[in-house]
Amino acid sequence: MTSLPDLDRLRAFRHDVHAHPELAFAEHRTADVIADYLRGLGAEVTTGVGGTGVVGVIRGTSAGPTIGLRADMDALPIVERQPRPYASTSSGVMHACGHDGHCAMLLGAAEMLCAATEFAGNVVVVFQPAEEGAAGAVAMLDDGLLARFGIEEIYGIHNIPGIDAGDIAVRAGTQLASFDDLDITITAPGGHAMAPHLAGDVIVAGSALVTALQTIVARRLDPAVRAVVSITQFVAGDTNNVLPPTARLRGTARCLSADARDEIQRMVTDICASTATAHGVDVALTYERRYPCTVNEPGCAARAAAVAADVVGADRVDANCDGILAAEDFAFFLQQIPGAYAFIGNGAGAPVHNPDYDFNDDIIGVGAKFLAALALRAIADRA
Ligand SMILES: [Zn+2]
Ligand SMILES: [Zn+2]
Repeated sequence: MTSLPDLDRLRAFRHDVHAHPELAFAEHRTADVIADYLRGLGAEVTTGVGGTGVVGVIRGTSAGPTIGLRADMDALPIVERQPRPYASTSSGVMHACGHDGHCAMLLGAAEMLCAATEFAGNVVVVFQPAEEGAAGAVAMLDDGLLARFGIEEIYGIHNIPGIDAGDIAVRAGTQLASFDDLDITITAPGGHAMAPHLAGDVIVAGSALVTALQTIVARRLDPAVRAVVSITQFVAGDTNNVLPPTARLRGTARCLSADARDEIQRMVTDICASTATAHGVDVALTYERRYPCTVNEPGCAARAAAVAADVVGADRVDANCDGILAAEDFAFFLQQIPGAYAFIGNGAGAPVHNPDYDFNDDIIGVGAKFLAALALRAIADRA
């Protein structure tokens, strides 16, 4: 493998993108900067894939398998708190999940692969829009990503604060949770607070519903299954002497098992219906299935772990890490082709989606090296 990429340039790229964060499907400047960077490296660049997505193709010296490597590009609607020299210049928008760093690592891998002297196949670097809840992966898939570029296998990586910087963790099977949205509207006639028997009570019904939903994970699912149901919003009423006619509850359900995901949806539906009956109110549920579980193909996960051990040393690799209840639209790629998604430690510091968070520049090099080596190993193994 070739030497490390130009880390000073990658760091400068990362800081530039961090200073100019863009929300889902609005990553226009980010995409332009990435496309220019890739062209400079000698990759064949296609823009506008699935909206703002950018794809770079790096061809080996002869024909062979085509491996995809993916980074996400979008930022979050968060106000950055720390006065960094490269702090966000876009008010209320922040790279608080490290996607700026993911792009830097993938550009570093692209640089190493463009400089690689000989390999029999192709590497497609995929810069995806809108990971944060808007399913940019689906937009790219719907735009023909896999067929247009011939991608047979795909890998991705996410930084994790709290894991030592540069350590790598992966597992065969479910690495990340499914995530679904619950949106519940409770309705009753409403009326004077002195006459609940005429008005109905959406607040008491809603309170019972919140409590009953907590029994899904605590009492109904197999305790060995990791899952969470959280009600995050409960809005009802305007004053002290009126029973309101509506209450709205919103929340999320996540789990590390496709079967449990179906069970949770069924139980939420049943509990809404039984609460309506018990309280004499109407309960309307919208249960929206968002991202599926991110399930690593075992052979690809083993390959990622083996390459990680080569790059950072076996003592810094967890080849059977726990899955976590975060979700990723990388899951949609893995529903169509084999691949794996890995974690890379970001070191100490604030968690992702926190206003104090920052990506750790010290892991750009190791992340780049890992991704480039993984693509070449996958090419060699599939040949
Ligand atoms: Zn995120
Ligand atoms: Zn993220």
